[in-house]
Amino acid sequence: MRTDNTVTFIHTSAEDDKTVYTPLIPIGMVGLASFLDRNYILSEILNVELERILNPDFDLAAYLIENKRTVFCLNLHWHSQSVKVMELCRLLKEAIPCSRIILGGFTASYYAAEIMASFPEIDFIITGESEQPLLDLLVRIFSGNKDFHLVANLFFREGGAVLSSRLTYNTTQQIIDAMEFANFKFLKNYDYYLRVEDPLNKADGLLSNVPATFYYNCGRGCLVNCSFCGGSRVAQKIINHRSEIIFISQGAVVRELKRASHEYGITRWHTCFDPLPKGDYYIELFRKIRAEGLKLNLGFECWALPSRQFIDEFAMTFDLCSSVLEISPECGSQRVRRQNKGYYYSNTELLDTLKYVFLRDIKVRVFFTAGLASETRDDIKETLKLIRLLRMQFKQINIKACCIEMEPCSPWNLDAEEYGITTDRRNFSDFLRAHQTGPSLGYRTNEFTGEDIEQIVAFYNSYNKTFDAKARNYSCCL
Ligand code: SF4
Repeated sequence: MRTDNTVTFIHTSAEDDKTVYTPLIPIGMVGLASFLDRNYILSEILNVELERILNPDFDLAAYLIENKRTVFCLNLHWHSQSVKVMELCRLLKEAIPCSRIILGGFTASYYAAEIMASFPEIDFIITGESEQPLLDLLVRIFSGNKDFHLVANLFFREGGAVLSSRLTYNTTQQIIDAMEFANFKFLKNYDYYLRVEDPLNKADGLLSNVPATFYYNCGRGCLVNCSFCGGSRVAQKIINHRSEIIFISQGAVVRELKRASHEYGITRWHTCFDPLPKGDYYIELFRKIRAEGLKLNLGFECWALPSRQFIDEFAMTFDLCSSVLEISPECGSQRVRRQNKGYYYSNTELLDTLKYVFLRDIKVRVFFTAGLASETRDDIKETLKLIRLLRMQFKQINIKACCIEMEPCSPWNLDAEEYGITTDRRNFSDFLRAHQTGPSLGYRTNEFTGEDIEQIVAFYNSYNKTFDAKARNYSCCL
């Protein structure tokens, strides 16, 4: 078979009849495609579920064969993708036996040795950050060089054995600043993709009235360990060999925001990278955005409480009709929050910050959960009290409760006993089995089963939804 030297990045997502659960492509894939392009390697990005919604007859293998593609990079970033990604890899290898299949992403990286041992159709896994390693690997693949020992962060096969290179790589300031995370020309049907909602309701299809959104973080890494987080400091060290954080320079971020806005009509930016909540990175960035005259709205996930200066600059920079700050105290109990959150703040500090945010007319979404380490029934009452207090003090407040699922390499996945957690998800095969058998949280605490936790979260949401501040409903529950 004659082959074409174009690399195909592929994103596939967990789904059922009604919903696509992770329709968003990790933005690093777009950055990688642009990085390869600058290094004279052609690439394309396909979102399998999006293609099928646009064309129910879309046949990925037929498309790849017709276009003579043989090198495929699949992201296995979120563990919920596990079943779909492994099925797709098997299908692609059967359809195109000469293909080279490369995996990357957090889940693939953490379980690289197990995946390589159990799934012979996977040829390579790049663990952690992958710009230079992927380029080095592709240069070898396309030139027929089979010596992979000097490609950093790589698991590969040699003589029937699985080997890993001894070299490690992290991105440099120069590389990450040059990456074009908003260069969507590599992504097939990007005009539809940019309007995809997460999760995607299949009945809604691809709504043309959804504003185009850019999901883009201004750096990598985290300095703290939230008990439940697979992107925490300890996970970053194990998965990405990363001990420090790296910010993309503000000039490079503004360049990408301008590209997103001017070339792709994007009006909404959503970001979740806030490792120095008291720092001045965003203050300077927001000033640069204003200086460029960029008109955007921003969804900003705060890792701690935002400072007053941050709030002021946010209010001056973004369209407040649709912008939102997301704050996640997680629970009402300060003891439980201190034990589970990397960035602690008291309830008084939360209330003071919210007062200031509302004073500046900024919308806020506040997130709670249940089933945190050491949480008791009394602590659940503390959360209900805090929800009630917030609803009584701030009429416009938007509150949402969500369950947290067990994540690979999160602190309580690494040391369940220390956190009083019981989990049946340790290896990749555990996650695979869990996602084959239907939804579950994958853990229980000493106090609550997974079903208890789901019920408590549902109760928080119904309590919040039906709360009537005037009638002071539900006081009997407290
Ligand atoms: S949830 Fe916690 S540990 Fe995870 S990235 Fe955010 S601040 Fe870091």
